[in-house]
Amino acid sequence: MSAGFHGAKYCWMNGKVIETEKALVSAMNEVFFGIFEGVKAYTKGDVLSKGRLNIFQWNAHIDRLWDSAAICSIKIPYTKERLLKATKETIKANGFQSNVYIQPRIWPKEGAEPFMGTAKEFDVVIPIWKFETLLGKGNVRFSKKRRLMVSSWRRIPSDALPAQAKCWANYGNSALAVREAARLGYDGAIFLDSRGFVSEGTGACIMVVRDGKVITPPVTASILESVTRTSVLTYAPEDLSIPVEVRDITRAELYASEEAFLCGTGYEITPITSVDDIPIGEKYPGPVTKRIAEHYAEILAGNVKKRKTWLTPV
Ligand code: PMP
Repeated sequence: MSAGFHGAKYCWMNGKVIETEKALVSAMNEVFFGIFEGVKAYTKGDVLSKGRLNIFQWNAHIDRLWDSAAICSIKIPYTKERLLKATKETIKANGFQSNVYIQPRIWPKEGAEPFMGTAKEFDVVIPIWKFETLLGKGNVRFSKKRRLMVSSWRRIPSDALPAQAKCWANYGNSALAVREAARLGYDGAIFLDSRGFVSEGTGACIMVVRDGKVITPPVTASILESVTRTSVLTYAPEDLSIPVEVRDITRAELYASEEAFLCGTGYEITPITSVDDIPIGEKYPGPVTKRIAEHYAEILAGNVKKRKTWLTPV
């Protein structure tokens, strides 16, 4: 392993901040079963600058980790408060002063899984690393063109693997779609669910704009219950007077939408240029997507008073 993970010298593992290169597990471990979270902390005042960090929607993310654990019948050996303290300690140990991604990971402990799926003890690791945001006024990364395809793989049905849980196994399904898209020369993929309705991206939810309204699939369309999706569904109507609707979306509607974007902790707000080479809308990025992304950046930076409760200072 390199001296740091994505440049992070320290991570947290099983109760302590340790050097990333010492965070080792055995190659003999079974790794398919476990859960994780993806959270971000952004610079206060301006997401493109440096300074103090605020964690976005910590409570919603940690509650989802506990939901994932319940669904997978895993007992997390720490409290939610301890994991927040661990996250803050790790950010401070690394001296981070710009946006970071936080990924609490939970796997079976070495030797804890005598038979597939029977592990009772779990390792808890929190790697944290810096990333470059797509957001912020005039950020050229936001406007980069993104050609997506509808995957020939369907999103896992919830009665086979629970898409609502953030468990590692689900990402085997995502990886198949990512690899297919790369092979065919696209920038990414969108899944349909087992019924043939639009589901989500490979690591993000999807929203389309039709007649000025933002529409996104329901939880029953095999999606992860995305924290970003819930945030957009709250602030778009309340702060920006943009109407929203949660309902099934057909593939045809996706092609015929005025705008479409991915949303998620990792993807933030990512506008989509085309799907299956059918251009989405007339202007790229579309005006609704732009307003939603700009407001999101202001919320993340702590500049929107009524959304400050979504931020936890480090
Ligand atoms: N769907 C999938 C499959 C994801 O991996 C993610 C990223 N966590 C999302 C949706 C978006 O969820 P969130 O907004 O909570 O990051």
